[in-house]
Amino acid sequence: MTMTPSAADLHAHNQRISRMLADPECVGELLLVGIGMARCVDLSDPPWGDNGAMPMKTLAETLYGRRWLPTSFVGVGSLSTTADSNPYRRIRSLFYADRRRYSATADGDRAWADVTCGRPMVRRDGLCGRSASSNARRLTDPATGQRRWVGCCSQPACKQWFTDLLARNAAELAANPVPEPAANTGGVLERHLPEIDWWAVWRRVDPQWSPPPEGRRFERPTLRLLVTDDDLAEAGVEPEPRVRPALVALEGGWR
Ligand SMILES: [Zn+2]
Repeated sequence: MTMTPSAADLHAHNQRISRMLADPECVGELLLVGIGMARCVDLSDPPWGDNGAMPMKTLAETLYGRRWLPTSFVGVGSLSTTADSNPYRRIRSLFYADRRRYSATADGDRAWADVTCGRPMVRRDGLCGRSASSNARRLTDPATGQRRWVGCCSQPACKQWFTDLLARNAAELAANPVPEPAANTGGVLERHLPEIDWWAVWRRVDPQWSPPPEGRRFERPTLRLLVTDDDLAEAGVEPEPRVRPALVALEGGWR
């Protein structure tokens, strides 16, 4: 049974939504899903079960209904541009794109096509700078684990410099364990909805995922999303009937 929210609940909810709206990374479909989840957490709409769990299918249907969805995320330029048209799999793909991780692209690395020759010049300051897109590699920095595009142009001296650099880099990587780079992207919904056990969600949507170095303390969350039907059956959770309308998606808003 959904309770009527108290004034304090509504106030906390409004503050949470205000923080989301002020976050430049919480935009487009991430914002839509974030607002929908904030309703679940703050107003119990739809409610979490007694054991603090909610099947993700319930959440997906609340947010998207059962409609066929466009196959790209709406208004979220920094995420992967492809998404699933099925509501349940789509919310999985959104959580996958927002999983906390290190990304060389998010770190401001150049696109492959923009790589220029990195050989330092002898008679002048600076680098060669000619196009290197035909001979570029993404190298791992042995000191930080971060990855960067490096390349050379077609001049013999530059090619030799690059061959030597690759050999030196390979030797350095072989000699010492490379640190895992700190996370630099994803986790947008986590910072607005810390009540939810996101680590469990990210492990389910990406079996390769493990907590990246952050330098901050992990606090155990109180709410769980159940990611698969198997989970649902194991936990014996039945979605409670919704007594109030949830978010309403209007036709014509997609592009
Ligand atoms: Zn060059």
